Amino acid sequence: MLDTKTTTAPVLILLGPPGAGKGTQARMLEDRFGLVQLSTGDLLRAAVAAGTEAGKAAKAVMEAGDLVSDEIVIAILRDRLADADCASGVILDGFPRTTVQAEALDALLAESGQKINAAISLDVEDAAMVTRISGRYTCGGCGEGYHDMFKQPAVQGACDKCGGTEMKRRADDNAETVASRLEAYHAQTAPLIAYYDGKGALQRIDAMGDIDAIAGDLRAIVASATA
Ligand code: ADP
Ligand code: ADP
Ligand code: ZN
Repeated sequence: MLDTKTTTAPVLILLGPPGAGKGTQARMLEDRFGLVQLSTGDLLRAAVAAGTEAGKAAKAVMEAGDLVSDEIVIAILRDRLADADCASGVILDGFPRTTVQAEALDALLAESGQKINAAISLDVEDAAMVTRISGRYTCGGCGEGYHDMFKQPAVQGACDKCGGTEMKRRADDNAETVASRLEAYHAQTAPLIAYYDGKGALQRIDAMGDIDAIAGDLRAIVASATA
């Protein structure tokens, strides 16, 4: 395996189809390892809500379940990566999603002498994705993710993390859009598994199990990739 480790701040990538559990796991890793989760989906939704030019261009594309242009996503990611809090290390959740994005990320990291510590693929069956996505909701206060069946708050309707009671569901989390999103994943994102394998940076885990078991596997990988 090539030496992908670095003495600079860790850079980890979570790969996987929509609903694989990237966001859920990234938040758990954030708490554990003091890393910052960077979700391009969250950044794009914030841009849509703020009505920026990028947000206006992305809105309809996201609603249709297609990928937003590389140009927009790379620009958003580059800006966020430059924020001071990212200096302690990042977990990329939902980026890169195309080979062009992966190459742009390599170039961006090279500018600051950084490298990817590990790209971890959360392997799941397509059939599970519809159930995971259609039951997904998040806390409007702190963004904590929940699921109607698989991850309910201790007190129904109240967030475990912040006590908030305003829960949100995403407009694109519906059965029709899921099919397009899975198609985009297989056509444009799945090739990144071979891309990172070729760099000796790939790790794969079975993400069909329960959330805590997967979190345990991930912690072990992240601990050794950032040691
Ligand atoms: P992604 O960020 O990959 O799109 P999420 O982390 O948002 O996925 O997870 C999708 C939904 O599935 C959420 O409602 C989450 O609570 C739930 N979920 C996450 N991991 C699992 C798991 N291992 N088993 C069952 N449900 C899960
Ligand atoms: P999920 O993990 O459930 O697919 P995300 O929140 O990561 O959801 O992404 C939501 C939508 O935002 C995607 O369907 C896509 O339209 C857009 N998006 C997010 N990240 C990217 C990216 N890296 N490249 C292109 N489009 C993106
Ligand atoms: Zn909350």
